[in-house]
Amino acid sequence: MDICDLHTHTTASDGSDTPSKLVQEAKYCGLRAVAITDHDTVEGLDEAIEQGKALGVEVIPGVELSVLFPKGNMHILGYYIQKDSPYLRDVLGIVQEARRQRNPRMIKRLQELGIPITLEQLEEMAKGGQIGRPHFARALVKMGVVKSVGDAFKRYLARGAKAYVPKSVLSPKEAIDAIHKAGGLSVLAHAFSLECKHFGELESIVEGLATDGLDGIECYYSEHSHDLTRALIGLARRLGLAVTGGSDYHGKAKPYIHLGRGKENLNVPYECVLELKERLNRGSHLHT
Ligand code: AMP
Ligand code: FE
Ligand code: FE
Ligand code: ZN
Repeated sequence: MDICDLHTHTTASDGSDTPSKLVQEAKYCGLRAVAITDHDTVEGLDEAIEQGKALGVEVIPGVELSVLFPKGNMHILGYYIQKDSPYLRDVLGIVQEARRQRNPRMIKRLQELGIPITLEQLEEMAKGGQIGRPHFARALVKMGVVKSVGDAFKRYLARGAKAYVPKSVLSPKEAIDAIHKAGGLSVLAHAFSLECKHFGELESIVEGLATDGLDGIECYYSEHSHDLTRALIGLARRLGLAVTGGSDYHGKAKPYIHLGRGKENLNVPYECVLELKERLNRGSHLHT
């Protein structure tokens, strides 16, 4: 079976592999296609696409946008975006500025808690890429403040924890519109992170997003149970949305997630890519 991975992060955001290294890994893993979906940036795409051409791996240009949502985390993936679209550039500029403003505020909160973390330390950790909470987490582990990245999130960085500062400024509809205006398709990432109490609640949220123009649901995902995956596929079919999937690979930043395989045997079928292409050709995303 041809497999793919439609959710990965590079050093352009909070992954540990450079875009070239990630595409090389995809080649070793035998993936037919890989999408690069860094948080709120498209900086890694050119390098990845070039490497894909050299190695014969299909590289899909993507992005993962964080959006406003009252609880949990809502992320919207964009696929086949034109990365130089002026509209997308403006939106990413706004989101990146919100991140830049958040970093000093989170640093200040940690310093007030007696932890002498600095922006320079985080910049060094991010190696020129965009700084995110995982860089804070790794710095806290390195400083010996916490034992693990998971601990760092639980005690300081997760929503509601002591040093958490929100950063999202886009509504889900604004994110979907920006992706469409850049010629791409929008997909709801890792539905489990919406922290719904029951599937009915998740269904009504996705129905709302579908009205806003959502094109697909990431059904196959490292943290999704078999049952949730099946339920999401059913929901996607009922609402006429595309079925996609990916591991959310971050390299060493999340060593328990493997490219293409997720925690164990994720196996996202290449048909997901065909379905996205079919929608693009049909122009279904242009009608919202
Ligand atoms: P940010 O985009 O800066 O808000 O950081 C969000 C990223 O932090 C997510 O994409 C994950 O990579 C990571 N993350 C969120 N929660 C956790 C957690 N509990 N443990 C490890 N990583 C996490
Ligand atoms: Fe991440
Ligand atoms: Fe995400
Ligand atoms: Zn992700």
